[in-house]
Amino acid sequence: MSSVYQNVVRQFNKAADLMNLDPDIRVILSSPMNEITVNFPVRMDDGKVRMFTGYRIQHNNALGPFKGGLRFHPNVNDDEVRALATWMTWKSAIADIPYGGAKGGIKLDPKQYSKAELERISRRFAYSLTTNIGPNYDIPAPDVNTNGQIMAWILDTYMSTLPAKERDTALGVVTGKPLEAGGSIGRTKATGQGVCFCVEQWAKDHNFDLSKATFMVQGFGNVGSWAAKLIAKHGAKLIAVQDHTGTIICKDGIDPEKLDEYVAEKRGIAGYPEAEAMPNEDFLSTEADIFVPAALEGQLTEETTGKLKVKLVAEGANGPTTVEGDKILTEKGIDLIPDVLCNSGGVIVSYFEWLQNKSSEYWDLEEVDTKLKKKIIGGYDRVKEAAAKYDVDMRTAAYIVALSRLESAYKLRGVYP
Ligand code: GLU
Repeated sequence: MSSVYQNVVRQFNKAADLMNLDPDIRVILSSPMNEITVNFPVRMDDGKVRMFTGYRIQHNNALGPFKGGLRFHPNVNDDEVRALATWMTWKSAIADIPYGGAKGGIKLDPKQYSKAELERISRRFAYSLTTNIGPNYDIPAPDVNTNGQIMAWILDTYMSTLPAKERDTALGVVTGKPLEAGGSIGRTKATGQGVCFCVEQWAKDHNFDLSKATFMVQGFGNVGSWAAKLIAKHGAKLIAVQDHTGTIICKDGIDPEKLDEYVAEKRGIAGYPEAEAMPNEDFLSTEADIFVPAALEGQLTEETTGKLKVKLVAEGANGPTTVEGDKILTEKGIDLIPDVLCNSGGVIVSYFEWLQNKSSEYWDLEEVDTKLKKKIIGGYDRVKEAAAKYDVDMRTAAYIVALSRLESAYKLRGVYP
């Protein structure tokens, strides 16, 4: 089986071959520009010091500052972060926002630490990265197991390293901040909102009535829960959910708002009283119209994709489908809205947050949502056009859109010296 980054390289090579990507640009985009690994000490609540390993991989900044989230997870490693950073470059290019791509994270299980420990870990990681991030250079954001609170700590730590009179220029060093700390309204739900806008567009294109649809969601964190709540607003029925604690099913529909409240308290979907538990391995064979993977990478593989009985896979997660999984989706005639398009709502609203910080403004929710819809549907249309023009699947088309944009930028600028 390929590693996560090998999966990206295979996706990249397929698109690059098809579109005849300039060989020089192919070489440039084939590897990340900077890979930063930091090992840093943090004092635990018991008084002992522990070492942690963090990463920030900056894939490309030809179109603008490096941009992308930070994840806290025991599986974080350089291969995964490299893949996630590369996907961010494609994502920003497809959405047509002036950013490059980066990603980072710390290898840890956040459940094992107190809030005070997590604060010290986040701050010390931010401190280790200070010379490598900045509001016009590299801008982190939330990802798996990180949130607005962690961004606020990173912002505060970064600002504290600057001379007093420069601190107010630093607000845009991270996005996904809480509203009270310079965040944007609509950022928390943005990734799920973007997934929902894409699903609406797909339904429109296929004359498909969302009010009669059934759907299933994998992962009930920020992305999965918001996608579920927003898709359900169209009248679609959420019939199965899976997360790291188990799988639940209810053919009459699961209320995503109630499930969200339950998860906020219990930290997982297991035991939710208004649905039945089912074996994890049966989840993917549930019959539904739409599947939203919103958990981790590598879920739809050679072994698992064949089980699907859905019409559409709308990827809220990054990298949920391997190259072999993609082949099976195509063979089975299952439509796909690929991650680099489908989950780009998060980084799009991060861009809006950054713009608001730059101009000391606060937009209202209607403005944020309207602009988000325009951007993400713009990307959707470009990918659909490329799919028709090159007669390829939506993922390959998404890559072609991203690579074409980067190719034009490089051709105009050339390579220094
Ligand atoms: N972590 C999110 C993603 O994978 C958001 C990144 C951002 O807002 O910079 O797209």
